Amino acid sequence: MVTFLPLMLVLAQAQAPPVDLLVKGGTVVTVDAQMRVLAGGSVAVRDGKIAAVIAAGEALPAARETIDASGHLVIPGLVNTHGHVPMIVMRGIAEDLALMEWLNGVVFPAEAKTVDPELVYWGTLLAGIEMARSGTTTFSDMYYFEEEIARATEKLGLRGVLGQTIIGFPAPDHKTTDEALAATERFLQRYKDHPLVIASVAPHALYTTPLEVIVKARELARRYRAPFQIHAHESPEEDVAVRAKYGTTTLTVLEGAGVLGPGMLVHHAITVTASDIALMKRYAIGVTHNPESNMKGGSGLAPVPELLAAGIAVGLGTDGAASNNNLDQFETMDFAGKAHKLVRHDPTAMPARALVRMATIDGARALGLDDRIGSIEVGKQADLALIDLRVPELTPIYDVYAHLVYAVRGAHVRTVLVGGRVVVRDRTVTTVDAAEVMARCTAIQGRILKALGR
Ligand SMILES: [Zn+2]
Repeated sequence: MVTFLPLMLVLAQAQAPPVDLLVKGGTVVTVDAQMRVLAGGSVAVRDGKIAAVIAAGEALPAARETIDASGHLVIPGLVNTHGHVPMIVMRGIAEDLALMEWLNGVVFPAEAKTVDPELVYWGTLLAGIEMARSGTTTFSDMYYFEEEIARATEKLGLRGVLGQTIIGFPAPDHKTTDEALAATERFLQRYKDHPLVIASVAPHALYTTPLEVIVKARELARRYRAPFQIHAHESPEEDVAVRAKYGTTTLTVLEGAGVLGPGMLVHHAITVTASDIALMKRYAIGVTHNPESNMKGGSGLAPVPELLAAGIAVGLGTDGAASNNNLDQFETMDFAGKAHKLVRHDPTAMPARALVRMATIDGARALGLDDRIGSIEVGKQADLALIDLRVPELTPIYDVYAHLVYAVRGAHVRTVLVGGRVVVRDRTVTTVDAAEVMARCTAIQGRILKALGR
């Protein structure tokens, strides 16, 4: 009987219905718990999910479509845990200014005069093209007219954790925080159980938004079991202002108000103290680390090694392109690695593996999505990026993680899948017309310059 077993297995496989898609014969970087890397591995996709992760030499299923991954790394789609995606149309609008001067002197006034549904929709498409083509499949956002961002995200075929901004001054879309809270609730209802859009609640920050409004926003997030995101400990200036007003740190103030708890994402966490870190650990709060935006703003660097040592989920973010000035998460990994090594004079401070985890599974965990995305494992969404290694600057390769962090750039991403759907093929976004999007955004730039009197 034993001798017939392989034949029976072959027959069983031949009779199995074909998978929808087979990504065949690449170096599969799973980022699973064992950090398995399968040379010559394949990934089978059925109904948008990963149906099998197949090592070299194992039998391959029949497939309706096959993508040849030879000479490529196959990685989980990257997760960008913080951004204000339509701000891509303001990339380079103001440089070399202190954060508060940049915000209050240029960005907030420019936004008040120009941000409307058209800017937000086309700006999101432009940012989405850049993210998709550099391997990001899930992003988190906090901006205005969030329903337009949701519409563009669906059109792009990307996954988004999208938060309508609630801020304590008249915003481009809502003049009062009550209006913004009501709009957020409608947004939460509309996108409940959506396959790509995860509606989130996003009060801007304690330094811009009254505490009682943040508390109301938190109640809303809890009622709808929605991710809750806020900027906190973003700069030394914020820390001074919050301590002057409340006598303690931002996170301590939020704890006192009952805001802290699971399902919460803190953007930046630069000025956190040891007791703030203990609070984040106790309340299972996720953190977004945005090294490029923070370095460019001269704001400081979050104590990421300590956060990771405490077991806190730390994801990587670009922040808005107006403060970065790109959305390439490979570059974010690179900057994050080098920044911590530099300031600590310690090359062991931030290992490449940890950085890859932050850009994938840890980012997913920070967003509360690690059961669905962030690694190449059976049952997860088939969100994948294929990186073409057959170029001089990636030859030869010794260590996939060192390569991903320090050598690969977004432009090396050739093919991208979200939920099994090919959204980038041979570097071209398949879901939107990039030329039209660029033309619309250039026209929007004209409107912004006019509004600023430039
Ligand atoms: Zn931000």
